[in-house]
Amino acid sequence: MADEETAMEVPWEWIRVNGAVAEASLAADGTLRWGSRGGERCLSLESEVLGLETIGLRITIKAFLEVSEHGFCGLERSSVKRRRVRRDYTLEMPNEAAARRWSAKLRDYMDSLGRPKNLFIIVNPFSGKKCARTVFKKEIKPLLAAADIDCTIIETKHRNHAQEITKSLDLLKYDGIVCVSGDGVLVEVVNGLLNREDWATAIKVPLGVIPAGTGNGMVKSLLDPAGDLCSIPNATFAVIRGHKHSLDVAIVLQGEKKFFSVLLLIWGLVADVDIESEKYRWMGSPRFDIYALLRIMKLRKYHGHVHFVPAPGYEAYGEPIKQVENFKGHILPSKQDQGSATTVKSCGYQGPEISLEGLEWRSIVGPFVSLWVNNVPFSAENYIPAPKAKFSDGCLDVIIVRNCPRSALLGMMLKMSDGSYVKSSYVMYLKVKAFRLEPGKRVGHPTKGGIIDSDGEVIARGDESAVNSEHKYLMDYGPPIQMIVDQGLATIFSPMP
Ligand code: ADP
Ligand code: MG
Repeated sequence: MADEETAMEVPWEWIRVNGAVAEASLAADGTLRWGSRGGERCLSLESEVLGLETIGLRITIKAFLEVSEHGFCGLERSSVKRRRVRRDYTLEMPNEAAARRWSAKLRDYMDSLGRPKNLFIIVNPFSGKKCARTVFKKEIKPLLAAADIDCTIIETKHRNHAQEITKSLDLLKYDGIVCVSGDGVLVEVVNGLLNREDWATAIKVPLGVIPAGTGNGMVKSLLDPAGDLCSIPNATFAVIRGHKHSLDVAIVLQGEKKFFSVLLLIWGLVADVDIESEKYRWMGSPRFDIYALLRIMKLRKYHGHVHFVPAPGYEAYGEPIKQVENFKGHILPSKQDQGSATTVKSCGYQGPEISLEGLEWRSIVGPFVSLWVNNVPFSAENYIPAPKAKFSDGCLDVIIVRNCPRSALLGMMLKMSDGSYVKSSYVMYLKVKAFRLEPGKRVGHPTKGGIIDSDGEVIARGDESAVNSEHKYLMDYGPPIQMIVDQGLATIFSPMP
């Protein structure tokens, strides 16, 4: 019989499955089939199995089976999304030789998948409704144990702790870094990795997110297109399966100051809602809807300019800029400068090796109600501001709302959950390669500025609360802030290859 077998196949053979006699086989594509007169069943080791355990003549297949259910996504869209349930199948072998053969073939197939074996896991106990610790113990740990993954677990003790940890972590020990948190911790990890001396290899470590926060935009953006419900078990399984996708990183610059963004930059209405509603954190995600209503009723507009290098197909937006030389003070250091210790103070990543000189910049002038600059489609589980955004297209999706009546804004808010708000004639949607914001004061309030938030972090604040606050922001409100995309710089665990 051995002669007929190919590398990973086991031909049809009589065994017992969950106590019942059945003829079973393992195909080269990793499909386990078994059946008797009652019919045939099959299981894909790649997409339905966490791991295996062999004890004597018994092999336990730890399955994670797909169940489709009528998922309700947001206010308008309802669609069928995949859920998964745990189930064990016990294969009982007739003798030791069969047990060894089956066990080896099943193990060989699982090993050929290249799944992660060692993970560094960062749990933020402060995320969302502060239940990440419990969620990890009850829902995530049992799945990782079934998949036989060794985990090093650390809880964050304060803001920026995840960034500090990843800046000095021995990355050779791990096949990935997984954040049990909201988006904030993931962004800290990206910034930690890119601020290392070995940033070029460090940023290639696959990153995972398991949703335990208020804002879970990244994981929703990953799971939703794959037809998976945005849930802790599905996100955990995506990490276990170990498929990877590259992810654009945008460098956000103001002079010498920089920040690395993988999600978004917001200004105007959305930033005000996101940040000012922080005091209602206890409500969970409804805080955004309730505070947005309030803000639309007392609508603010901001003066300012945006400049951008349009992606192909978006050259007709805005007006061409004549004085390109104005940008020279804000371009990235040249390749030569990057290597020089005298011109670049910090080690770590200094931005993509592209010059912005000579590119065709265009401009849009305010007043503005709202601005999004998005790298991924979802900004939170129920908000999809950038339905056309792609993980590694080398572009940022820019969404601008200027003059817009309150009634239209309210209508748009109701269509944020399925992205159809972008069809409104008040929405300007474009893709850019580089972007620059010159934020101005609030219309009618020459002393008040707005909030600029990148990936959940306030990077500049020009309102009165900032003037009185002890908190120092990374950048100043007023001078230009520029973003340039480095295509596919980071790697993220994804449910789809
Ligand atoms: P959420 O989506 O609920 O905002 P995040 O995981 O994005 O959750 O985290 C929010 C913030 O919590 C991050 O800025 C992070 O630095 C901070 N943080 C991490 N650990 C702690 C802690 N132990 N106490 C307070 N804040 C923390
Ligand atoms: Mg992109």
